[in-house]
Amino acid sequence: MESQWNDAEAAALQADPLRLRVYTSRLLGREPSLVLHGGGNTSVKASRPNLFGDEEELLFVKGSGWDLATIEDRGFAPVRMETLLRMAKLETLADADMVRAQKAAMTNPDAPAPSVEAILHAIIPYRYVDHTHADAVVALTNTPDGEARIREVYGDRVLYIPYVMPGFILAKEVYRLTQGVDWHQYEGMVLLHHGIFSFGDDAKTAYERMIQLVTEAERQVEKLPLAAGEAAEDLGALAALRKAVGGKLKAPVIARWDRSPAAVGFANLAPDVSQRGPLTPDHVIQTKRVPLIVGSDVEAYEAAYRAYFDRNTDGKLTCLDPAPRWAVWPGHGTVAFGTSAKKADVIADINRHTMKAIQWAEALGGWRALSEKDIFEVEYWELEQAKLKLGGGASLPLQGKVALVTGAASGIGKACAERLRAHGAAVVALDLNAGVAELFNGPDALGLACDLTDRAALDEAVATTVRTFGGLDLLVCNHGIFPDGRSIADLEDALWSKSLDVNLTSHVYLLRACVPYLEQGFTPAVVVIASKNVPAPGPGQAAYSAAKAGLTQVARVAALELGPKGIRVNVLHPNAVFDTAIWTDAVLADRAKRYGMTVAQYKTNNVMGVEVTSRDVAELACAMAGPLFAKTTGAQLPVDGGNDRVI
Ligand SMILES: [Zn+2]
Repeated sequence: MESQWNDAEAAALQADPLRLRVYTSRLLGREPSLVLHGGGNTSVKASRPNLFGDEEELLFVKGSGWDLATIEDRGFAPVRMETLLRMAKLETLADADMVRAQKAAMTNPDAPAPSVEAILHAIIPYRYVDHTHADAVVALTNTPDGEARIREVYGDRVLYIPYVMPGFILAKEVYRLTQGVDWHQYEGMVLLHHGIFSFGDDAKTAYERMIQLVTEAERQVEKLPLAAGEAAEDLGALAALRKAVGGKLKAPVIARWDRSPAAVGFANLAPDVSQRGPLTPDHVIQTKRVPLIVGSDVEAYEAAYRAYFDRNTDGKLTCLDPAPRWAVWPGHGTVAFGTSAKKADVIADINRHTMKAIQWAEALGGWRALSEKDIFEVEYWELEQAKLKLGGGASLPLQGKVALVTGAASGIGKACAERLRAHGAAVVALDLNAGVAELFNGPDALGLACDLTDRAALDEAVATTVRTFGGLDLLVCNHGIFPDGRSIADLEDALWSKSLDVNLTSHVYLLRACVPYLEQGFTPAVVVIASKNVPAPGPGQAAYSAAKAGLTQVARVAALELGPKGIRVNVLHPNAVFDTAIWTDAVLADRAKRYGMTVAQYKTNNVMGVEVTSRDVAELACAMAGPLFAKTTGAQLPVDGGNDRVI
């Protein structure tokens, strides 16, 4: 591991210890083998004048909810040192009381709550204190002779603290063990099974000591072998796994399949290797203590989780949901679950580091995680339970669902994909136009160029959806073409067949390809975007109207066939939606002129006299996909501002 310290960058910050603290915190946060997703914490001690002009000694410590990689000045909580040092001398203190007292000792009530390690940072008599959960350090201590092994690496340069629960008792234990100890002989401190601290009186020393210490630990493990393997694909089994796990969570989940050689290699190891516990105790909040092994059933996982709870509870705790957060799938890799793609990705990131560390420790005599009791104490820590009682915040109506939208590069399809995403779904957006890939990207969206009249491309797009998010719950059949007007007498063969291919046949094939996955979906639904031309056709559009009428009839049959499987199929008939690609300003002006209207009159030429937008159609499609229409299938709804021929 290399120091990323840059003298020029740091020079610009020299005047301000807090800004330097931000700088090296971000350097640490940038390195995922040191800290992941909010792990670790840092602090700096500095004095500041108060309202009355008196200098106060403060600890600026990472605020909870902040991530070292992106922390800013305001991410550090300013806490009075005097209070923290007095708290360290208390005999006992409940963690909830500690958190309250720390907040009360802040000089800025608007700052975030200080880290639960604030007291520990305060008692270390160095200006800068850095704390990480470096993979290599934790892996070395998670072995049968872990303490001896790590002592061999660092000798007398660091303090060694046996594992104790984070929070007040850890601060207290360090305080007790270091009475009469001269801290200035140490560069750092190892917390067995937990992580490492480094310190210094300037930002660079503390940071570079961390890099140096971790590099020495990495030297012990970097040459150790890691397993690799090739993934087999079984998308049906993946969708079934997602369904089973979401069933235990009582909510739809995104399933992120890691089929990298490293994940497959790990999955092919002896099954008990993954069943010994997490890399560091704070991962338990994200990953639970152990993963599911695919092949054993989810019921057994639940039973084992409840038994673990019963063995360890003091009788006053509430059992958390028994759903696994990740699965080890021999021959296939690993799968991480979350109520959003982002959450699943956090777990997947943690797993990647855990899988490596486990194998290092195995090679060094055997992976030995903390005891079940210790892990339980963190999982059911009063501070975590208190958060649960506050509730996790309202979730969006389509949270955790996976949607596939066709014709999504513009108009109604684009609006549907955007609104489904805004309502919480992960979205795969398909379009012939490759620009869709730029419109939809990120953890919860994937835009794919796809010609849906190409059977192989269609099948591959459906497979990619399942491969990316683990399954499929919602299908919005929207793609289509609006051919040039022709009377039947003038209708070319090619125009007729192309309209039927695109507007009808490709939808049937798409639906057919999706049904096996929809069957495994969470309250699955299909929304078909048809047309006002179905109930009220116009002259010159036989090819379009017949295809859309055929599509509507297919949807009605699908509603009959799929209803017993819990899959709803409903149809929207939009009309006069002018914010789409086909309605250019020129086309609109031309059409309005033909009817002797202004563009504004033409746009609102319906019973209600309102303009219908793509977003209006998209919101109705989202409603049809969601709980409002939970008991409705086979329905056809106009969205047209009222059309006297339809009414
Ligand atoms: Zn820690």
